[in-house]
Amino acid sequence: MLKQMASRWFTRNPSPLKKNKHWGQVDSDRVLKTLLLTLDGMVFRCALDAHWTIQFVSDASKNLTGYAPEDFLGNQKISLEKLTHPEDRESVREDILRAVADSSTYGVQYRIQCRDGSEKWVRERGMCVQDESGMPVLEGFIEDVSEQVLSYMRRAEVELRYASIFEHSVVGMFQTTQDGDYLAANQALAELYGYASPQHLMAELSDIGRSLYVDPRRRDQFSTIISLDGKVRDFESEVYRRQGQKIWISENAHAVRGPDGEFLYYEGTVDDVSQRRRYQAELEYQATHDTLTGLANRSLLHDRLHQAIEQSKRYQRSIAVAFVDLDNFKIINDSLGHAVGDALLREISNRLASSLRAVDTVARYGGDEFVLILCDQQSMADLSTMLERILARIAEVVVVGNHQLQVSGSIGVTVFPEHGGEVEDLLTQADAAMYHAKVSGRGQHQFYSPELSSSAHQRLGMEMALRHALEHKELMVYYQPKVDSTGTVAGFEALIRWYHPTLGMVSPTEFIPIAEDIGLINPITDFVLREACQAAARWGALGWAHLHMAVNLSARQFSSPHLRAQIEEVLAESGMPAGCLQLEITESVLIGDTERTVEVLVALKQLGVRIAIDDFGTGYSSLAYLKRFPLDILKIDRSFVMEVGDGRDGMAIPKAVISLGHSLGLSIVAEGVEYLEQFNALLDCGCEEFQGYYFSPPLPQGAIDLFLIRSKDDSEDSEELKEVEAS
Ligand code: C2E
Ligand code: CA
Ligand code: CA
Repeated sequence: MLKQMASRWFTRNPSPLKKNKHWGQVDSDRVLKTLLLTLDGMVFRCALDAHWTIQFVSDASKNLTGYAPEDFLGNQKISLEKLTHPEDRESVREDILRAVADSSTYGVQYRIQCRDGSEKWVRERGMCVQDESGMPVLEGFIEDVSEQVLSYMRRAEVELRYASIFEHSVVGMFQTTQDGDYLAANQALAELYGYASPQHLMAELSDIGRSLYVDPRRRDQFSTIISLDGKVRDFESEVYRRQGQKIWISENAHAVRGPDGEFLYYEGTVDDVSQRRRYQAELEYQATHDTLTGLANRSLLHDRLHQAIEQSKRYQRSIAVAFVDLDNFKIINDSLGHAVGDALLREISNRLASSLRAVDTVARYGGDEFVLILCDQQSMADLSTMLERILARIAEVVVVGNHQLQVSGSIGVTVFPEHGGEVEDLLTQADAAMYHAKVSGRGQHQFYSPELSSSAHQRLGMEMALRHALEHKELMVYYQPKVDSTGTVAGFEALIRWYHPTLGMVSPTEFIPIAEDIGLINPITDFVLREACQAAARWGALGWAHLHMAVNLSARQFSSPHLRAQIEEVLAESGMPAGCLQLEITESVLIGDTERTVEVLVALKQLGVRIAIDDFGTGYSSLAYLKRFPLDILKIDRSFVMEVGDGRDGMAIPKAVISLGHSLGLSIVAEGVEYLEQFNALLDCGCEEFQGYYFSPPLPQGAIDLFLIRSKDDSEDSEELKEVEAS
């Protein structure tokens, strides 16, 4: 029978063997035997009956099913029908009978149940032929395909999972053609762009270069970057949503290529970054504008003045820089309170702004100081007329509540290029002229002349007094506690105090700038550092070793080559652990030579001290800018904290600063916390430390001594306590 089967096979499938003349006398019986022995599967013939009764099966049946050929013959132990998995029997039979009816070959794939109970996937191929007596029978071949089937199923499952991630992702995902048509989009993307479903999006949005991006060049830039780098990262663009509303998105995408490197399509994700953009814009605005008056702040003033000087040089036109100072503002502020003072400042700001042309700039320089940049000055006479008009506007009555207030102003003015100089020089000249106006009787304007420079009179007295103070121990250090999220003291900020015998308390904001100018800042910092480290070491010895101590560094001394050695020495002398010392620097330190600044910061950090960025938000920095520097702590300026607690809006900036600060690995300290609501709101946003009058004002060392000893040992009357109280 083998021979018959073989010959039938060979005639039905004309074999290449036969055509080959060398194979003319092939012993097909032997070839077939070899094949049957080596084929990885079983060859069979069966009847077309209900059980597919086996008439012949090759030895491989044992290997494939566990049943020997004799188990099959005459269905002794098992039939082909029974071998087939019950769930597959019917469909297998249908497929085979269809092929029989069509006199064609068939191929079916199904499961079998082996003798040992295991299941296998097999593929059966065969056809209906007539046996030796002309009866129709099936002849065919069954092989094990379990491995292929299982791996196919696993792949299908993975694909299904990916499809599910794609469909359910909250991130917008897409595939687009080079021409900007969608091949695929998910629900999140549809929603992001304002469409009900991916189908709507794909039907309505095509040629995205022109219809999606607000700036139509964006799509080309997208393609260009991908063709150069293979991908785009954080590619931010403004786009139109379906209803025409604009949003900002960030795309991450790459080109998908075929096996030969040919471009197939773009694939990527889209995030809505509108909110972050808004916060950034707001931060930028806050960084360049005064919160109280909305006028340009110092940083913007510097930029504008710089531009004005460039313009003036290019077009040979004069500019005037005027320094305006209110004459009796301090008295009003002290006697009627800050709210009235603020209202007055706002009104004066409006008057100044409305007195100028659009090309001019008015900036708030400090408390009651303003700077005007007046472009295109034709003549001194015109300038004088204009300044007098401004003075008259300032002197008009201001009504705040039921107060009728009147202030006058003093203006100092310098003209560029007449007196030359750069930004800082112009400001100093105008300041000197303003001082001259003040001492000459207030309520007037004065032009700068080089002689005025030498008359930094107002400073002179102060300078002398300050030198005297340093020598005669009129300076003291106060300590303001900082608390952690539980309200427990975590450390202190050292703040200098000057008690002048006749002037009384002089604010550091007044004398630190002078000390910087006259080169006294180094000895003053040295004094504060020593005092503070000694105090901290002393508190450490009292059992408060973990408290940190923050000392303010002036921007001027930051680049001093002795700074590191100075700090190292003080640390060694006091025995205070370096890890407890924090150095507070302001944003202005970071402006300029970035490389050098990073170098200094790294050198300081090598000592083990930590670096805090002070008054964050008032200066030049954007958070992106901070990224370049090795900082540890960010102190949110009081002006932002002040806004907290007047409803939800006030939290927007601190919240953004805290979360962006955290993303840079900085820990956040809030300054100037005055109310419980501020503490709670900032705590909710993840702020780590808090400082402000709500917890404590700055206190002299003795008061802190008492506080620490008391809180360490509330019940016991310790020796230390008695000692300190006695002193
Ligand atoms: P700063 O470094 O921002 O210090 C915080 C200032 O805010 C301190 O003013 C502090 O008394 C005040 N303050 C703290 N909590 C509150 C609050 O809840 N409400 C309000 N309204 N104010 C609060 P202070 O002591 O007058 O110091 C003013 C500035 O002078 C400091 O600002 C710092 O820039 C500078 N300064 C003080 N001591 C030193 C020093 O030793 N070296 C240097 N270079 N600068 C110093
Ligand atoms: Ca500080
Ligand atoms: Ca500060």
